[in-house]
Parts: sequence; structure tokens; C-alpha cells
Amino acid sequence: MRLGIAGFRHETITFWPGFTDLEDFERVALHGEEVIEKRRGTNTAVGGFIDICEREGIELFPVCEVPGWATATVTDRAYNFYVNEMKREFSREAENLDGILLALHGAMVTESLQDAETHIVREIRRVVGYEMPIMVTLDLHGNIDPSLLDEATAIFGYQSSPHVDMAETGRRAARTMLSTLNGEIKPITAIKKPGLVVPSVFSATTVSPAKDIIERLREWEKHPGVVDVSVFFGFAWSDVHQIGMSAVAVTDNDPELAQRIADDLAQMAWENREVLTGGKNLHSVKEGVALAIKKAKRASKPIIILDHADRTGDTTFVLRELLDQGAQNAALPCFFDPRAVKVCEKAGVGNEVELEIGGSTGWRDGGPVRVNGKVLWVGEGRYICSGPMWKGMEINLGPTAIIKAEGVWIQLTTYQHALINEDPFTKFGYRAEDFDIIVTKSKTHFRAVYEKVGEEIIIVDAPGQCPADLSVFNYKNVPPGVYPITRTVS
Ligand SMILES: [Zn+2]
Repeated sequence: MRLGIAGFRHETITFWPGFTDLEDFERVALHGEEVIEKRRGTNTAVGGFIDICEREGIELFPVCEVPGWATATVTDRAYNFYVNEMKREFSREAENLDGILLALHGAMVTESLQDAETHIVREIRRVVGYEMPIMVTLDLHGNIDPSLLDEATAIFGYQSSPHVDMAETGRRAARTMLSTLNGEIKPITAIKKPGLVVPSVFSATTVSPAKDIIERLREWEKHPGVVDVSVFFGFAWSDVHQIGMSAVAVTDNDPELAQRIADDLAQMAWENREVLTGGKNLHSVKEGVALAIKKAKRASKPIIILDHADRTGDTTFVLRELLDQGAQNAALPCFFDPRAVKVCEKAGVGNEVELEIGGSTGWRDGGPVRVNGKVLWVGEGRYICSGPMWKGMEINLGPTAIIKAEGVWIQLTTYQHALINEDPFTKFGYRAEDFDIIVTKSKTHFRAVYEKVGEEIIIVDAPGQCPADLSVFNYKNVPPGVYPITRTVS
């Protein structure tokens, strides 16, 4: 047996001015055999494909693996480059392949396409036909269009946010591929969209009601005849026609059961729409920072400030407030500012620097903040992720500098990354637990570690690029009936 594998993922913020181009992807893209070498043993969907296939002695034909993050619309140039690569390679090997495993996202938007994922699978179908099984893994934050189910044999979403189950999702898809090819099952897929989109900060599956929806999903997975179940919470900052949540069930040739499960989970999400779209525990930046400073005085572990709206990693609303309110022993890890790193490198460890940092994109970023600080560390910020999410993946922050500016420890990086675990401290000789306040710009992924490391999580809704309040954006492509954008319920 021989299976083709490929991955291409991006979470597109269509409101973000500018584009994400080929060079942005190529910095981290893998091609050919490199895909196997670099992804084997990692907590990624492709890592999960490789794990099952190597265990079962299945030959792999790797094409490419292109991870991406939440940034501006993907250029046609970048998109066509990878889709053409997949088409060319799968076409060349079509005769020798039994199936294809794809690791996609579900919220990629290009200059020409609102629904890139359906188009990717359709383009691959053009060269391999409709007989060959194609199993697709997707991110829990995908905006899934029902037409994807006409192209893919079955789809599999991460069931956890934090996405600590990416490899497991790849394993679910690979196992289903094998039982399909062995003739043990005939997968049938159904989808239901409740007409609801969830700002990512409310999609944490360790917190109710998202937690309860996943528990219901688990119950359904035990039902006889069920192959797999996914709930996609959608991505709120992609202005696309298929925006919003989807419940998807895969059964063994039982369309009625698949639809019943999808309908049930969609109904449960709809009933919880208010909490899923506007949690009551959001603080303004001023309030949240004041609360963190007050609580930190009595806490035995760090207070975590979640600045969830920041997608560039360099918005300055929280930093400015920490400095203004005189926060002490606070940490701001993974703060994106390549220019400031260069100034620190030049100054050298132990010396004072005067910097204007952050606010580099000019879009909802708060503008630069002037800081005077002492350089504590400079060097290469490259390490292997200790997990749980992305375990085994190489993380590259590029040239990195750490400064102490008044009471705030700031880690300046050349490439963007969000604090999801303790690595940005431990790999640089620090410990998260030694700080009183820690700021993270991760949305839910940090919870896998910081629900334990932190005493309390304070969520601030800074203006940022992706705030919880969606009414600040002018959506043009969202059809009627998507709560809370185009559907209101009295
Ligand atoms: Zn996600």
C-alpha cells in the first residue's frame, strides 16, 4: 500500500491590510522526503499520518508540508505554487497511489478564493479522480463549506483547543484511510452549520460551554457505527460566505446517523450561542492590568494576562498599561520587533538601551512604545518545542533579545511566535514561575500549560487585530443568518 501526503495551512484574517506571500511560507515549508524527516515524531497532523503509516508498514509519498499562521490574505502566487506542486506530484504518481492524506486548515483565503480548502481538494481530484480516497485533517477553527464533503472522502478536525491533539487527528484520518482501503468501512459524512461564529478566545475546550460540546462529541463517538466526529468553531476574522461553526460526523455507511449527530451538536452550539460569542469575563486593558497587579500581590503563582486580540505579537496596549501602572516583575515573552533586537545586539548584554518597540504593522496595533531598559540576553532563539502542542517541532524566533524595562521583562524576537508553553522562558535560562505577571497573546493554546503554571487567567479585550467584538468590522461576504454578525436573536 502506498499513500500520498501533503499539508498546506493558513488562517486568514481578511481584514488585515496586505498579503501573505510565497517567501513567508517558504521560510518554514518542507518538500519531498524532508517532510518525513522533519515531521516524524512531532505533534502535528502530518506527524500522526507518518506514525500510523510507518507502524503499519505503508509506503509514503510525501509532497510538501507548509504550515502557516494567522496573517493577511494569501497571494494567488503563493497558493498556486503549492497547489501546482501537489497536482504535479500526485498526477505523476497517481497510478502508484492507493490514497491521499492531506493536512489543511479550513480558514485559508486567497486573493481569488474564499474557500481555498475545497478548491485544493477539487484540484487534486482533477488529477487523481474520484475513486481514490482522500482524507483531510482540518483545524478546529476552520470555516467549513459543505461542498468540501463532495471532494474529500472524510474530514477530521482537531478536537481540542489548545491543539494538543494534532498528531492524534492525523492518526484518526490515517486509521480511517486504512480501514477504508481494507474494505472494513465505507465512510459517509454529514455536516450541519448552526449559523454561529465563535471568536477564538471562547473556543477553549477546557472551558464550558466549548468543553461540554466536546464531551457530547465524545459520547457520540462511542455510538455503534460512528467512525469519527468533529466540531469546528470557525474563524471569525475571515470575511467569507462559509464563515462559522460546523458539526461533522463520519459514520460507516449510515447517512441518517451521521446527520443526526451533526444536527445534535449544532443544536447544542446554537443553544450556547451567547456565551460562545461574548463571554462575560472580559476586561478592558486598564481594568485587567490593574486587577492583575492587585492579585499578583497575594498570589503564589503568576497571574496570566491574556491579550487575545493581538495577532502580530506586537500590539502595545497591554505593555503601555503595565508601564503606566508601574507593574513589577511582569513578563512579556515573544514580543515581535526585529529592529529592536538589532539595537540590543549592538548595545550588548549589560548595557542600557533606549528603544521604540512594537506597533509595527500600523493596523490596530497601538503604535510604538518608548522604553528604557537594560539588555539581559542576546542570541539565536531557536529550539525544539517541548510540547505538548507542536512537540518536537523546531521553533525559530530568530535573533532574540531580552531586556528589563522598569518592572517589565521583555523578550524581543525577529520572527512571530506566541507563548504556548514555558519554552520562551526555560530555553533562555528563566522560569515562568519566577514572574508575578505573565502576558500571553496565544488565544487558547497557552491553556495546556498555563492553567497549571498560572494562578488565574485575566482576559483583556484590547483593540488589537482580532477583538471579541466583531461589530467593529464591516463584513461584506457573510450571508444572512450568521450570529452575531448577520443574525441577531432578541
Ligand atoms: Zn486553531
